[in-house]
Amino acid sequence: MGKYIFITGGVISSLGKGITSASIGRILEARGLKVSFLKFDPYINVDPGTMNPYQHGEVYVTEDGAETDLDLGHYERFTSAKMSRVNNVTSGQVYFAVISRERKGDYLGKTIQVIPHITDEIKERIRRVGEVSGADIIIVEIGGTVGDIESLPFLEAARQFRLDLGYDNVIYIHVTLIPYVKTSDELKTKPTQHSVGTLREIGIQPDVLICRTEKPLSNEVKEKISLFCNVQKEAVIEAPDVETIYQVPLTFKNQILDEIILSHFKLICRASNLNIWEEKVVKPILFPKDKTKIALVGKYVSLKDSYKSIYEAIAHAGIVNGIKVEIEPIDSESLEKKDQEKILKDVNGILVPGGFGYRGIEGKIKAIKFARENKIPFLGLCLGMQCAVIEFARNVLGLKEANSTEFKPKTEYSVICLLEEQKKVKELGGTMRLGSYPCKIRKNTLAFKVYQKSLIYERHRHRYEFNNKYRKLFEKKGMVFSGIYPQKNLVEIVELKKHPFFIAVQFHPEFKSKPDRAHPLFREFIKSTLIARERNNIEK
Ligand code: GLN
Repeated sequence: MGKYIFITGGVISSLGKGITSASIGRILEARGLKVSFLKFDPYINVDPGTMNPYQHGEVYVTEDGAETDLDLGHYERFTSAKMSRVNNVTSGQVYFAVISRERKGDYLGKTIQVIPHITDEIKERIRRVGEVSGADIIIVEIGGTVGDIESLPFLEAARQFRLDLGYDNVIYIHVTLIPYVKTSDELKTKPTQHSVGTLREIGIQPDVLICRTEKPLSNEVKEKISLFCNVQKEAVIEAPDVETIYQVPLTFKNQILDEIILSHFKLICRASNLNIWEEKVVKPILFPKDKTKIALVGKYVSLKDSYKSIYEAIAHAGIVNGIKVEIEPIDSESLEKKDQEKILKDVNGILVPGGFGYRGIEGKIKAIKFARENKIPFLGLCLGMQCAVIEFARNVLGLKEANSTEFKPKTEYSVICLLEEQKKVKELGGTMRLGSYPCKIRKNTLAFKVYQKSLIYERHRHRYEFNNKYRKLFEKKGMVFSGIYPQKNLVEIVELKKHPFFIAVQFHPEFKSKPDRAHPLFREFIKSTLIARERNNIEK
């Protein structure tokens, strides 16, 4: 039977519970344990798939095609755990399951209540992760902040879980904030005392406190927190702001958090091995040998979380190339004004990410034209590929009206369009081409040089596809279709011949990149920007 760690958050949101959970997974994996995760999101949406990125941040897609919270991305990047649709559960899913059963008559005669029916369903979802993963340790992160009305049923289920499984099999970790007050030059413990008090009212006494802080916690402060919150002093863990999120597991390890958890669980494990993590991931970030700059041309650039996995995949590519990659976010709509694309002159690479809807599209197309004509390395992802196709159709093939039917349903040249089967779909939730699909790569192409393989698997999240009617025409003018989904003959990768690095993919490679195993597309894209930079320097 697995052991369960519940992670809750106090005082404020955005304390980094996701990174904390992922880092705890990392230090336990380093002790030879198999870990898995469950993220509870207290909102009513069934999944984040239909939410605006500004509301929710990126939608992370799993191999099995679930549209999930971006924290699942952290879990996959920090550990070897494989996430699927069982690893993210929302209030919407829980209520939907219970109400569907009620309608079927499964509870006939009974009054359906939050306790026990909703809490039982929540506990069932927790157990399911244990069963499906076969993990030794299941880390359950409860979204929201203690004190929120919405997360109460999840906390209640977490409380009951220790009652069901026994003291040694469940541990509660509370992530909290110790604010620093500048005027009195003091760290304040009161908000944490209140937050732990609120948890205790629910019946949960945390065993460990992870204290987010800008300043080191003195011995005195730690003692105070320990006394007032009823937590052992060594279990008051300091979590200072760090330069890179990948340092967090090392911070925890240095405070023997792994040992504290293992001794609670009465587990004896092999010694920790985080050397490779430190040498191959953290050090290259802290001490880069060189730097490069790329532009990220998107619609949601003012919120970094909207492109979380892309930012991380770029950082991974920096690690493997030993350089720091500066990312200049550019709002694609702003490029639509006259001559604005000139601001792209200073970057060594252009990345156009995925997205939905017409707003900002013309700016993306302009950026791609600029990359193509000025031989600036270009990587297009999903909508980025569709825009690259539209740009080529308009400016190379001369099909001025070329468009995607997503933006102009009655366009004369529908180079991107819906497949027949998608035309019938009416509902928006969970109805796209989602999850992992195979892609065959043509030999002697840039794609083959990048992947060094002829069969790859990548994750998808889109509805529209390249229109095969135009394939010959594009090929004649120099676009290469280097990756194909063989079962349906769908275009997955396009590239250009007479260009140092111009490649665009219908899928989302960013979801599979890891800090110690950068995705080849990002790795090669970033490498190519260095060559472009040399050329730029010579020209200047
Ligand atoms: N909007 C496009 C589609 O649905 C692209 C989606 C994306 O970039 N994820 O096909």
